[in-house]
Amino acid sequence: MNEYDSEYLRRLLLRSGWEQAESMVDADLIMVNTCTVRKKPEIKALSLIGRLCQLKKKNQNLKIGLMGCLAEHKGEEIFSRYPGVNFVIGPGSLSEISRVIQENNLNKRFLAKGIKSIPCLPPVDVREKKVTAFVSIMQGCNNYCSYCVVPYVRGPERSRNYREIIAEIELLVEEGVKEITLLGQNVNSYLWNDSIMVRFPDLLRMISGVDGLKRIRFTTSHPKDLTDELISCFKDIPILCNHIHLPFQAGSNRILSEMGRSYTREHYLNLVGKLREACPDISITTDVMVGFPGETEKDFQDTLDLMERVQFDMAFSFKYSDREGTRAYHMTNKVPEEEKIRRLSVLQELQKNITLEKNRKMVGKVFEVLVEGKSKDGLLWMGRTTNNKIVNFRCDHSPEGDFLNVKITEALNNSLRGEAV
Ligand code: SAH
Ligand code: SF4
Repeated sequence: MNEYDSEYLRRLLLRSGWEQAESMVDADLIMVNTCTVRKKPEIKALSLIGRLCQLKKKNQNLKIGLMGCLAEHKGEEIFSRYPGVNFVIGPGSLSEISRVIQENNLNKRFLAKGIKSIPCLPPVDVREKKVTAFVSIMQGCNNYCSYCVVPYVRGPERSRNYREIIAEIELLVEEGVKEITLLGQNVNSYLWNDSIMVRFPDLLRMISGVDGLKRIRFTTSHPKDLTDELISCFKDIPILCNHIHLPFQAGSNRILSEMGRSYTREHYLNLVGKLREACPDISITTDVMVGFPGETEKDFQDTLDLMERVQFDMAFSFKYSDREGTRAYHMTNKVPEEEKIRRLSVLQELQKNITLEKNRKMVGKVFEVLVEGKSKDGLLWMGRTTNNKIVNFRCDHSPEGDFLNVKITEALNNSLRGEAV
């Protein structure tokens, strides 16, 4: 979501005559896009803002802006604590900055919060070689999981008009994009209802008809909205990638209920079974949390047990962190920090082995990848398989933007190595 908002702003600025700076010291405008879902990114963002305010001493023209969830959550406080911050713009108010930029009036300090509209990606004038792109299809969340600040900072669920979504995808494809990832906090609860009712599976089928589009992904899905109809899309829509990110958060029914997740471990395991039946080589990734208030050793073992049973391809794992304003914040039976650290490291060790084992099974086989560019170290090429594995590989010509067959030669923890065939 944040990447999409950054891209929106980048395009807006380019269209208004701004140029992308090579580094922060060359910039006249720096927007810090923030997340406040967990404490750590919040601390990092505040420390960056502190350092940026120092940069102002060297560049009098520099304007600093804060956007994203932190802007919505603690905007007023940050605005008064850091006089060097020129703008604070919540995620629902992004359109405000477009107005200010269009009026070329960046000299006035301002703070914009509240839910106004979902931004629509403006086309770029510069021809960019980008093969993948994000498309936001809905924003906000109505679920109010007891630990989560998202519904408070991103507002209630709002879906975008499906016609606008299709138009945006057509534009991206025209620009050279081959793969799109549909975004939403609960992407699968997408619903547009005017003359016709469009649910998420309907939207997927419509998008799959866009001429020239080669791959569709989506994230993040909530288990409660993973219907049989959506599961069958993995079987029926050829350009839908064989990957789903399906957070489970905890393996104990008692904790799931305290979290307000509205499903049980049995329901989750049943969904995994159905997904694998519809699409046997689907890769399943997840989010999981340890140390939710009141989580006992037995609850934690239930989480590990679920992970053993499912054999996720990858998991984002977090220590529960207290977020002001949430129900869990007021729970009294908090798990000590050292215990959370211990549980997280046990869980991560388990998942590391599962991921490696899964990746090893791919060695020696040939997979089609969409080549996104150079690998991180700049020495190899990087592409992604349909089941979302990163493959770094050698190739004797420049394959950027192409679909290419790659033979996997080595499995690592977070990626694969290969040779173009
Ligand atoms: N809408 C998605 C997740 C959005 S937040 C879903 O329901 O799955 C991304 C992840 O951050 C969550 O899946 C959760 O694992 C983690 N998270 C959210 N609040 C947290 C908190 N207070 N402490 C630790 N992790 C948290
Ligand atoms: Fe947060 Fe729960 Fe909504 Fe996900 S579904 S964004 S975890 S409240």
